Amino acid sequence: MLVVMQQSATADQIDGVCEAIQRLGFKPWPLPGETRTAIGLLGDDSGADWSHIEALPGVANVLLTSKPYRLASRDWKPEKTIVELAPGVRVGGDEVVVIAGPCSVESEAQIVETARAVRAAGATALRGGAFKPRSSPYSFQGLGKQGLEFLALARRETGLPIVTEAMDEAGAELVAEYADCIQLGARNMQNYSLLKFVGRLGKPVLLKRGMAATIADLLLSAEYILSEGNPNVILCERGVRTFDSATRNLFDLTAVPVVQKLSHLPIVADPSHGTGLRDKVTPMARASVAAGADGVMVEVHPTPDQAMSDGAQTLAPAQFTEMMRQLDLIAQAIDRRVARMPEVAAVA
Ligand code: PEP
Ligand code: MN
Repeated sequence: MLVVMQQSATADQIDGVCEAIQRLGFKPWPLPGETRTAIGLLGDDSGADWSHIEALPGVANVLLTSKPYRLASRDWKPEKTIVELAPGVRVGGDEVVVIAGPCSVESEAQIVETARAVRAAGATALRGGAFKPRSSPYSFQGLGKQGLEFLALARRETGLPIVTEAMDEAGAELVAEYADCIQLGARNMQNYSLLKFVGRLGKPVLLKRGMAATIADLLLSAEYILSEGNPNVILCERGVRTFDSATRNLFDLTAVPVVQKLSHLPIVADPSHGTGLRDKVTPMARASVAAGADGVMVEVHPTPDQAMSDGAQTLAPAQFTEMMRQLDLIAQAIDRRVARMPEVAAVA
């Protein structure tokens, strides 16, 4: 339920509605807007008797929402959320943000070289895993804390904000010390205790869609983070499992406009994991921009064939540079722009 207050409602009237919601046994969640305040109600309100709330002073109307997620929905917050990764690097605004870097951080030289290359080509954020969720326990698991230190060095060298994955609570605390944005991977999208924990860390979160998650599941997972008081959530479409072995995943680009209608949260698309195939990454990155994605996340490595993970879907720097040129053209065609680093943040 959402209680929309009149434009002229006083602070006392808003408090009165909050108290009435509390008396019904629910948590009120005031949502101050530009023209009027609304008050949401957290909890399962399907059986609640809300009729008297409509008659309280200052109430304009009461909207019943059938959606299971609240804070993530457009009903609750019509205006788009913009998540700032660094001064001037905003996801969810007018510009398309490109986040690029290797699947895994492998060495200081590898991450610094990649950061320089992707920055020169126009990326505005650096990705790279220090904690890697691998399907096999025998595969490279990431450099851990040392990987985070290398990422921090790459940020000092280039000014690019860092997006890197956390797999568990202890790792998330460490990642929060180094990163500008904590990535929660497909395999952890429904790790609810981790979602709640990360919601309390106060850093932006990039939440990837689970391999068999519906869009409602994704938005409910975002709701866990939002309901802990962290509004800075970026969603990421990275493909879902399919019966077809022609590609690694089924890259669901329809999720972009669907999410944008249902939710105010920004959504970026990851054609690297979405396709699993290097030569399919650029076409599907183009399609992501055309679909209206708020950003694109792409894997790039100085020598993809020697990458310690996901080399088959990783672009070489020259391929990434060409992809950026094409994304500029696609963005232009739909009256958008691909973001570039603000000059103030340029250190290199
Ligand atoms: C990644 O971004 O490298 C990754 C492991 O992604 P996902 O969680 O989408 O598989
Ligand atoms: Mn990867």
